Amino acid sequence: MTFYSSEFNRDIHINKKNNIYRLSLKICNITSKITINSPVYLSNSEIYIFFIENSGWIKEQLKHCVVTEIVQEGSFLPIEGNYREIILSKKISNISLCNPKKIFLPSVYKNVGLELKNFLIEHSKKMMIPILKQKANLIQKKISKISFKDTKSRWGSCTSNRSIMINWRLIMAPPSVYKYVLIHELSHLVHMNHSSKFWKLVWELHPNYLNDKKWLKIYGKEIRKYVFN
Ligand SMILES: [Zn+2]
Repeated sequence: MTFYSSEFNRDIHINKKNNIYRLSLKICNITSKITINSPVYLSNSEIYIFFIENSGWIKEQLKHCVVTEIVQEGSFLPIEGNYREIILSKKISNISLCNPKKIFLPSVYKNVGLELKNFLIEHSKKMMIPILKQKANLIQKKISKISFKDTKSRWGSCTSNRSIMINWRLIMAPPSVYKYVLIHELSHLVHMNHSSKFWKLVWELHPNYLNDKKWLKIYGKEIRKYVFN
């Protein structure tokens, strides 16, 4: 269920569930989606009063949300930490990175965002899979599956059945940063936790990891802001 707020110029989502016992607010700092969690027995007017009472807080939280940027011709997109201007060209038939400050797309491409998204996913696979395989060999572990996704809350994951997921948006970050995430997930093949032994292994495989971890914390939202439509 949703209602429209003219103050915030967007839908407010109401989530009523049996296992919710008090009213609470949630704002996604990537999508700016506003959700009110409510017990099932409360009326809509009670929920609305709660919303009005907390609108000052919502306004404050929205300031911290990621400002989105639509990927289109003329805009700049970071690839492996290097910002490139998006240029459409009649002379080429495939996406090209031959100029270090530009990324060229064939002008026949109708949906620039979608084409670039597919390109980034392929580029992630090309750059990251060899590193994963090489480092897995080094620690003598086998990966059962490698997948590339765009998850809102994590940069990567590793399951107990040795399946590794990497957020392809990391290909926009500097190489050292995405290498850290690859090493982090690989190290979970040895230690399924964040113990001191785990961090020691990460350090051995990627000594610069503390800087990269910090980079993700500070600039991670920068590579989440791009909208590929
Ligand atoms: Zn972890």
